[in-house]
Amino acid sequence: MSVACIIVAAGRGTRAGADIPKQYVDIAGKPILEHTIRAIAASALVDAIQVVIHPEDETRFEGLAAGLDGISLLPCVHGGDTRTASVLAGLQALSAIAPSTVLVHDAARPFVGISEIEDVITATLANRGAFLAVPVVDALWRGEGTLTSVERDNLWRAQTPQAFPYPALLAAYDAFNGDAADDVAVAQDVGLDVIPIQGSDDNFKITRPEDFDRAEKLLKEREADLDIRTGNAFDVHAFGEGDRVVLNGVSIPHSKTLKGHSDADVAMHALTDAIFGALCEGDIGQWFPPSDPQWKGAASEIFLRKAVERASERGFQISHLDCTIICEAPKIGPHSDAMRDRLSEICSTDRDRISVKATTSERLGFTGREEGIAALASATLVKP
Ligand code: MG
Repeated sequence: MSVACIIVAAGRGTRAGADIPKQYVDIAGKPILEHTIRAIAASALVDAIQVVIHPEDETRFEGLAAGLDGISLLPCVHGGDTRTASVLAGLQALSAIAPSTVLVHDAARPFVGISEIEDVITATLANRGAFLAVPVVDALWRGEGTLTSVERDNLWRAQTPQAFPYPALLAAYDAFNGDAADDVAVAQDVGLDVIPIQGSDDNFKITRPEDFDRAEKLLKEREADLDIRTGNAFDVHAFGEGDRVVLNGVSIPHSKTLKGHSDADVAMHALTDAIFGALCEGDIGQWFPPSDPQWKGAASEIFLRKAVERASERGFQISHLDCTIICEAPKIGPHSDAMRDRLSEICSTDRDRISVKATTSERLGFTGREEGIAALASATLVKP
């Protein structure tokens, strides 16, 4: 299954007093649209993001997209005069990748949560759509003077994302005439079932002047809640007789081996300790005492997996790992990509968040005399 998300950002609505479309207005230091793109990209279930922009915003959007390090977008497409025309343009642009599921999301809803995005995706079936919505709790009245009560049972306020099987939504839009309030209306028009999924009030659409202040406050609160930690570590193992060394899980032929109780993977030990350090949970020696015979000759990935598991149990994601191996030989450079792949697999972390590098100590000290190998590491952990 592949999932694409269309972000509709072609509107011309401006903030009171500002002369640029509201989705490009900064809140907490970044344009609203950037916050929204980052919120959608945070879900691992979303494979592709298609932003639909107004032709006049091309330069503005290119500047924004250039700052999205690590997030890749499909080439943007131009929207039409109405929301309906803009969504159709986005759907047509997706025909090349033909996702199984498509989400449509408003550019001005930067507060959508990962679990909300994933709830609508998983509720979508081959013949059914789903959308985020909030039950109406206030009493509802229609009219002026003489009022009529509106039954609020089963009444929902629709939000986005709204998710659908891609072929069904594309066919519904192709058949639709006029301008619809949202994608649910278009899907219902061709008889497609759509179910509401409970959303949250935080996923509001920035619309009125006071919404900008509310959004700014909410973003700052969320940033203050973010727990970011850095751990660092250093490890050394001496050389002994042998014909290979294991570094970051990769076996490298060499004229000596590293001595130690486990497989003596000095680099992986440093990374493991850096993660334990960020968690303030002691070090590898406390978790896996060298006096315990069960760790004799053990593969060091057991230690690293334990540190990663502890981080996950504590709610932390591994945002970045960096390791420096200090030795005169063997040469590390030819093996660094294999090490990154291995670490990426063990840590369930993207390879582009893992760095492995090496240096000599200019023939100085114990590493310079080739008596052993040293490793430094740092780990950055983030709890959203
Ligand atoms: Mg060690």
